[in-house]
Amino acid sequence: MIKKIIQDFYMENDDNRIKADVALDSELVGMKIFDDPLIGVVKANDPIFELYSDKYEIMYHKFIRPSDWLESAKTVVSVFLPYSAEVKAGNGRDLRRPSLEWLHGRYEGQLFINKLTSFVKSELEAQGIECVAPSIDKRLAINIGTKKEGYKIRETKLSNDDFWSSWSERHVAFAAGLGTFSLSKNIITEKGSAGRLTSFITNMQFDATERHYKEVNEYCTFCGKCVQNCPVNAIDYEKGKMHTVCSNYLDWVYKKFEPRYACGKCQVVVPCQDKIPEKCIRL
Ligand code: SF4
Ligand code: SF4
Repeated sequence: MIKKIIQDFYMENDDNRIKADVALDSELVGMKIFDDPLIGVVKANDPIFELYSDKYEIMYHKFIRPSDWLESAKTVVSVFLPYSAEVKAGNGRDLRRPSLEWLHGRYEGQLFINKLTSFVKSELEAQGIECVAPSIDKRLAINIGTKKEGYKIRETKLSNDDFWSSWSERHVAFAAGLGTFSLSKNIITEKGSAGRLTSFITNMQFDATERHYKEVNEYCTFCGKCVQNCPVNAIDYEKGKMHTVCSNYLDWVYKKFEPRYACGKCQVVVPCQDKIPEKCIRL
């Protein structure tokens, strides 16, 4: 049912294409932002959510369980929206700064996702189904260093555990069988890692999607290409991603392109851009 609602939204809504009044370049008018989504389902009472909530190293005790968002929760649906070929190719041209295509993908793409998320929630509710979408819920708490809309400029030095939220789309995607984490902390799905996520907690009963993996980083080959691509060395082969370094760079991008900010060089021109990469030797 959710799949059909999402498909209808894709078909009937033209916000998945860049319009003339917002285009950063006339050649980008009409550019498609997202390809067709992947959808995964996990039971709301899956023990993985207890792990997310209880284990400090995973979510710093900030994660709110599905049943605390929605008392009648039965299932959690995760949706991965892969970026279109145009958005990915644009960002792969020059690895030193974000492309206009990617800036649109991140900014107008998120506006599209927010509309899609609201639409799905209201369609379900119109059918008498209870639904919470944490990404657009007032209770969502986020603490990140990036100085984007709605967030104050931070003067204090941050560490990795200053970056948290009470719901993590990536962790939910992992739980819902969509894919695994990676060295760059992105989620690698069968349609790659270049994309965005949203999710829904509902009281509908669905079969859970099988998780075809056991390890947290199972789909990552640790090839190191994302390490090479990062313009500010925010990914370390041993330590993984350093959120503070990435965030400082995004702040710089924001100052130049306000209200847009983006980078995504760790998601393009990498073996995991469009698919689960084949195991390979470290570059
Ligand atoms: S580029 Fe290589 S190391 Fe980086 S996330 Fe993708 S598969 Fe993993
Ligand atoms: S880790 Fe951050 S700064 Fe580095 S490539 Fe990825 S998004 Fe860009």
